Amino acid sequence: MRKLYEGKAKIVYETEDPNKVILFFKDTASAFDGVKKAEIKGKGELNNTISSILFEVLEKRGVKTHYIRKLSEREMLVWRAERFPVEVVVRNVATGSIVKRLGIKEGTKFKRPLLEFFMKDDKLHDPMVCEEHITLLGLAPEDAIPLMKETALKVNEVLREVFSKGGIILVDFKLEFGRLPDGSVAVVDEITPDTMRLWDEKTGEKLDKDRFRFDLGDLLEGYKRVLDSLRGS
Ligand code: 5GP
Repeated sequence: MRKLYEGKAKIVYETEDPNKVILFFKDTASAFDGVKKAEIKGKGELNNTISSILFEVLEKRGVKTHYIRKLSEREMLVWRAERFPVEVVVRNVATGSIVKRLGIKEGTKFKRPLLEFFMKDDKLHDPMVCEEHITLLGLAPEDAIPLMKETALKVNEVLREVFSKGGIILVDFKLEFGRLPDGSVAVVDEITPDTMRLWDEKTGEKLDKDRFRFDLGDLLEGYKRVLDSLRGS
């Protein structure tokens, strides 16, 4: 299989069908724009499984995604997409960059989900952008913006419900979007504890990549707890 692209956490391989590609989930953990890195055996498998379950849940609830099926422990078959260089972040509770940027108290609950856009650019450290930037810089088609917003909020509703059943709070998450071969705009990339913040409802323990970012404990233990909470979803 020919490698099309290698990112920090995944490799994209070509298939015999030009409209489909394979995502291979690596064991690499990276944070702070790749400055902090480690190999964590088993992470790729956990993330592929978690993302597959969540894409299946979302598809069942009517959210269009690039997911086709899980192929193996570390591989997922997806529709090829023209990815927009935009990250859509939804926040239910304040933590991470918004706390530093706006001086909000860590843990503040928003009265409704807060939606933000960032430009995907490691060299610029993914700067925050507004809808005008997206349109005028051509980061995504103008008509895709309302759809990205509506879809991100729907994904938030579905995932909050799914995680709350397992005693986990969905604090925030990042989505990426792209255009599929059939012309539709869909959720692409991955939905994993690398791209979400998940806190234990009872103890407040962080179960996501913040464990790696801030040396809070074994990463795999947190990700396994997340996967266990999804069994039966
Ligand atoms: P923050 O803006 O607070 O750093 O991140 C908000 C949420 O989006 C967190 O769940 C974080 O994991 C996710 N996120 C934001 N930017 C990125 C990114 O470049 N890569 C990944 N994997 N997740 C991100």
